[in-house]
Amino acid sequence: RRVLGIETSCDETGVAVYDADRGLLAHRLYSQIALHESFGGVVPELASRDHIRKLSPLVKEVLSASGSKAEDIDAVAYTQGPGLVGALMVGACFGRALAYGWGVPALGVHHMEGHLLAPMLESDRPEFPFIALLVSGGHTQLVRVNGVGDYHLLGESLDDAAGEAFDKAAKMLELGYPGGPKLAALAGQGNPDRFDFPRPMVNRPGLDFSFSGLKTYTLNTVTACKEAGELTEHDKADIACAFQDAVVSTLVIKCRRALQQESLKRLVIAGGVSANTQLRAALGAELDKLGGRVYYPRPEFCTDNGAMIAYAGFCRLRAGLHDDLGIKVRPRWPMTELEGVA
Ligand code: ATP
Ligand code: MG
Ligand code: FE
Repeated sequence: RRVLGIETSCDETGVAVYDADRGLLAHRLYSQIALHESFGGVVPELASRDHIRKLSPLVKEVLSASGSKAEDIDAVAYTQGPGLVGALMVGACFGRALAYGWGVPALGVHHMEGHLLAPMLESDRPEFPFIALLVSGGHTQLVRVNGVGDYHLLGESLDDAAGEAFDKAAKMLELGYPGGPKLAALAGQGNPDRFDFPRPMVNRPGLDFSFSGLKTYTLNTVTACKEAGELTEHDKADIACAFQDAVVSTLVIKCRRALQQESLKRLVIAGGVSANTQLRAALGAELDKLGGRVYYPRPEFCTDNGAMIAYAGFCRLRAGLHDDLGIKVRPRWPMTELEGVA
């Protein structure tokens, strides 16, 4: 069985084909970063228009790269939410129409379930149950995962998401858009002993996060440097380093707490920030201490992509699920409302 997956929730158009026996056959990603760069953020209307422009050529390319003809595809999965409503509508209409034209089922997939299951695309994949740390541009969540669709939210960010905090801190450091990966790269050159940023909420019990205080602390430090003369390249690297240390150690502390609370030793990290090398190293070391293991997707499947949507769709198809002919998107959609398919 073969599933075509389509991702259009934000500013990347992702398309992929997943095969039950042979795994991922082909995937393509088109990023709209250049389109939105001069605006310093994603412009929803431009995002929708660009998805329309790129979907058809990408689908053709992926079909041919995967050696599939239309009749080889058994279902079409598309991102149904959460995300930008117009961008979601483009993928949903396109996916639903393709499925209708080909006479196969369509499956609306939850974007965060896609992220969460992305490590399953690797050969070294975790068994259920496990704890998942979802750290992306819009979400920071700790989830107990018992199986596909069986998710228990243990904690989440009360304000900014981790990726959003990275991007905002990067903006303060004038690193451009999107700044998360740039800040991470700069952090490696910083002096870790110069600044000591607070670790938000680690002294309180529970598994929730808050990153807005850290953002203010970063802004105050940037302002202090500017008042002392100018914000030098050294200052920027030192601030980036202190900021990243604070985020990473906060995430590590909460992951440890979640694993202990749930008596589990398998941790999955997914979403854009799971590409962060310091986070991976710190969690790897922590899980070594706990006698457990951490699993993550290859870097290109940490951020948005079509492969994770094709795979999540495949899991739902395998369980006998599919959608009716209606086209429905859910810009806001708690992952805990999903049905388990175990
Ligand atoms: P969501 O999935 O919550 O809807 P999104 O799809 O916009 O949000 P992703 O594509 O999963 O988010 O991830 C993008 C985020 O990941 C951005 O905020 C980006 O800055 C961050 N990010 C990517 N690489 C890194 C890195 N190496 N270090 C830190 N942050 C990173
Ligand atoms: Mg993106
Ligand atoms: Fe995402």
